[in-house]
Amino acid sequence: MSTHDLTELRNKIDDINLQILALLNERAGIVQEIGTKKQQGVNRFDPIRERQSLDLILKNHAGPFEASTIQHIFKEIFKASLELQEDNHRKALLVSRKAQPEDTIVDINGVKVGNGNQQFIMGPCAVEGYEQVKAVALAMKKQGLTLLRGGAFKPRTSPYDFQGLGIEGLRILREVADEVGMSVVSEILTPHDVEESLRYVDVIQVGARNMQNFELLKTVGKVKKPVLLKRGLSATIEEFINAAEYIISQGNDQIILCERGIRTYEKATRNTLDISAVPILKKETHLPVIVDVTHSTGRKDLLFPTAKAALAIGADAVMAEVHPDPAVALSDSAQQMDIPEFNAFINELKLFKEKLK
Ligand code: PEP
Ligand code: MN
Repeated sequence: MSTHDLTELRNKIDDINLQILALLNERAGIVQEIGTKKQQGVNRFDPIRERQSLDLILKNHAGPFEASTIQHIFKEIFKASLELQEDNHRKALLVSRKAQPEDTIVDINGVKVGNGNQQFIMGPCAVEGYEQVKAVALAMKKQGLTLLRGGAFKPRTSPYDFQGLGIEGLRILREVADEVGMSVVSEILTPHDVEESLRYVDVIQVGARNMQNFELLKTVGKVKKPVLLKRGLSATIEEFINAAEYIISQGNDQIILCERGIRTYEKATRNTLDISAVPILKKETHLPVIVDVTHSTGRKDLLFPTAKAALAIGADAVMAEVHPDPAVALSDSAQQMDIPEFNAFINELKLFKEKLK
């Protein structure tokens, strides 16, 4: 074969490659069109349809490739198309940056979470009584903080542990908040309690154990109250984002995502703080992202370093627990700060925030 012939054949191959490329892209365009026409909830993978397509191809196949080779090549094309539809689907998530490039700012009675001004959400693990909440609220107020957390409904691992004061706990939080000038962040465990809680809370917390309680997510999605959604104990970032999507899909876009540590094999801390989740969530979604340093570490000696890490990596707020007398606390006794510790924590972090500027 002359050099001339070889060049000609190679040119032909290049031509065919370009034709295949054009056809693949044309095919992809049609697949995308089908994807947008399909109703939400319809399974994008249709094995019967794929079997028919493969049969048609193999019936018309005459070599020189083995039938199995042709089948393999087309399976790859089908797979790539399916991924294309999945990408489109992900792009369409309402919580995604692609759907909304600008940051969502959650407004809690005028205090903004997600506007670049990093906030603190502090308070006891559980509401135990008026005096206890009031002591913490007054200490917070002195520090200029107004976002008061406290559990009235406590999701405890054991049914024999303190379950919280329930509605009475919410009433105490509201009373103290009104007296001191604070906003209430409190966890609601069931869809049933959401409506009544609206009278008492300024932010509804959905706890880690309820991150995939889809009925609760849908219910809080229908109300006009900010929602603080915590990452599930073993939830992937994708599952976390989809949980937020459940809320926003019902109309409520006032959502704060909270990284609170995930379960790993590591026992040195209560959970493993997934600090990189913060920039990932901020990149993938337009929602504010905060870090709970108490439940992620479960260790008082790690609250300050992890809070610094959270602020440095761009978290919109830090959450931590404070109790006037942690030794007698009815829950999370070992990991709550007392008031002097809280003051030292906030003072140090205020200095640290200045350094970050
Ligand atoms: C809480 O913040 O009170 C709490 C129970 O945390 P988590 O849901 O993250 O365990
Ligand atoms: Mn706690």
